[in-house]
Amino acid sequence: TDLDTADEAVRSTCDDATTCKRYATSKGYWTDPYVQYFVRSVGERKAPEINRGYYARVQGMNHLLDAFLRKTKCDCQIVNLGAGLDTTFWRLKDENLMPRKYFEVDFPMIAARKIHNIKTKPPLSKPLIETHSTDSLLLDGHSLDSDRYCIIGADLRDIPGLDDKLKKFHLNPELPTLFLSECVLVYMTPDQSSKLVNWASVTFHTAMFVNYEQKERFLKTGWENADALDMMTVYSVIPQDDVARIERLEFLDEKELLQQLLQHYSICWATKDKLKLGTYGLEY
Ligand code: SAM
Repeated sequence: TDLDTADEAVRSTCDDATTCKRYATSKGYWTDPYVQYFVRSVGERKAPEINRGYYARVQGMNHLLDAFLRKTKCDCQIVNLGAGLDTTFWRLKDENLMPRKYFEVDFPMIAARKIHNIKTKPPLSKPLIETHSTDSLLLDGHSLDSDRYCIIGADLRDIPGLDDKLKKFHLNPELPTLFLSECVLVYMTPDQSSKLVNWASVTFHTAMFVNYEQKERFLKTGWENADALDMMTVYSVIPQDDVARIERLEFLDEKELLQQLLQHYSICWATKDKLKLGTYGLEY
């Protein structure tokens, strides 16, 4: 049906994101030794402004993620909504910044692909096994559950279904929780995305929601505090010695192109802080 075709188009965006990240890392914008196991070839050249845009996106998201982990002393859980083939779990393991449990949700078809890659590639499966204590590792077609890492196949537009599955895999509403959505809510209607954001705010008393998106989209339903930075600003507050480094990687003739691109995007975050951890102050 038309709807299946539309969902298929949405699912294919996960390859676009991973391909762009693979290319940018191959050029040295940042380091990611794991993305190669999800997209084998570096693929065709991407324009420098695209690479710089991804650089700012990844640095900005990582900054807020790491700040939340430090603030909670890793005594928290992370839920990456529409995670696609994202490699953050492995980065956090390598950097000794593992939350109590890291959850990912995406369409069952994408979850199955990711699980297949993990099963067949030892550099991906080894860190997962190292963080798992018993022999109770659950691996079926559409979900993976270990002590510290869980992948769930679910449709984010079906809130009761999502809630059920996350509970089944022991998401704990009492624990400080970070939600990440990186270019995901834009593929839903405003009504669907606000239901999702609202579900997160009513289910967790101490939480943060970080969203990377086109500027207009984020809704702060039910959150105590919300803030946003457009990506021009993010780019200007990333450590400038690193910006100078990546700007030497590839020549960019038209600076306006990058500015136009960055102006269309923003990182927004919203917090609830019953435990008074001080997550309001997590900025640059
Ligand atoms: N967050 C990843 C990143 O930035 O690398 C992937 C971004 S990709 C542009 C969007 C992802 O959201 C895709 O993996 C897609 O399958 C997922 N997605 C979109 N709508 C969804 C829905 N209703 N349920 C589950 N996943 C969804």
